[in-house]
Amino acid sequence: MKYNRTYNFSAGPATMPEPVLEEIRDEMMNYRGSGMCVMEMSHRSKVFQQIIDEAEQDLRDLMGIPDNYKVMFIQGGATLQFAMVPMNLMKNGVACYVETGAWSKKAIAEAKKYGDVHVVASSKDRNFSYIPDCSDLDIPENADYVYICENETIHGVTWPKLPNTKGHVLVSDQSSMFLSRPCNVSDYGLIYAGVQKNVGPAGMVVVIMREDLIREDLDPKVPLYMSYKTHADNGSMYNTPNCWAIYCCGKVFKYLKSIGGLEAMEKLNIEKAQVIYDFLDSSKLFKGTVDKEFRSLMNVPFVTGDADMDAKVVAATKAAGYDNLKGHKSVGGLRASIYNAMPKEGVEALVEFLKKFEAENA
Ligand SMILES: *Cc1c(COP(=O)(O)O)cnc(C)c1O
Repeated sequence: MKYNRTYNFSAGPATMPEPVLEEIRDEMMNYRGSGMCVMEMSHRSKVFQQIIDEAEQDLRDLMGIPDNYKVMFIQGGATLQFAMVPMNLMKNGVACYVETGAWSKKAIAEAKKYGDVHVVASSKDRNFSYIPDCSDLDIPENADYVYICENETIHGVTWPKLPNTKGHVLVSDQSSMFLSRPCNVSDYGLIYAGVQKNVGPAGMVVVIMREDLIREDLDPKVPLYMSYKTHADNGSMYNTPNCWAIYCCGKVFKYLKSIGGLEAMEKLNIEKAQVIYDFLDSSKLFKGTVDKEFRSLMNVPFVTGDADMDAKVVAATKAAGYDNLKGHKSVGGLRASIYNAMPKEGVEALVEFLKKFEAENA
């Protein structure tokens, strides 16, 4: 392997495409004749303005974002959105949330500070191993929005189809599946994604928001930074943005375009996930923790059913050069995060290793 890098199965911050890292390296000391690194550059400079404009345009091209949606680059990670969403979107003070795992639970807890939260469906009864039926939810007439976490990073579940919101605005946390497959943006009122899972360095979130949902009449006590209007009106530069993350994400957007866009990415992601799920379905030692139709293409939790054996596998994988496979404590076992940038060879090599481990430990 070039550079002696490890196959990194971290859930986030996570592996990046090597050609992107190489480009960043090549531009490190002197970005395209500017005489400086992007890290050192004024965010008000022409050079940086071009970087952010191109990043936004490339993202619009990739996802086919309609003109009536704003794209914003905001700091505070996905976690800040747990509060920003209710602060900005709760006009009537009522919202519906679907509880599907650790990240939606956190969003629910935060939203409860700001209004009346209806948990309209939950998969808590089986430790979040499936997505509940959301075809006929009990949504109050005055609900301001319906909220989902579209891929639960810890529990490894994803939505095969979106909930029936009965005409209400849909808000989605796409952090751990952002740009992993095509997305019909007009199905949503607001999409957000912390970029360190599937796109770039930590510390930034991309928000894609339908323009008419941006409010002028927020409580004046809402911090300026936490009003979407502030970011939308100032091209994500009301204050100093995370210039470095915007630059790196922009490179990833261009890279995705160059390999054929989100259709091509989805095809590859399906192939990659198939390699590991086929193995788990045939293994006697390991088993996946999620019901088949809700399995994530990005985060694959699996267990042996014996905590000591789990720990032994994690240690063995690490020693063999497969890093960050320890599962989250709420699920136990192992978790392989196989985001866009994880090559298929990495998944194949891991599966070969697990097969060998199984044979030796039968
Ligand atoms: C990681 C993650 C978050 C939190 O992201 P931060 O950037 O650490 O705030 C929120 N939602 C999902 C689905 C995540 O995977």
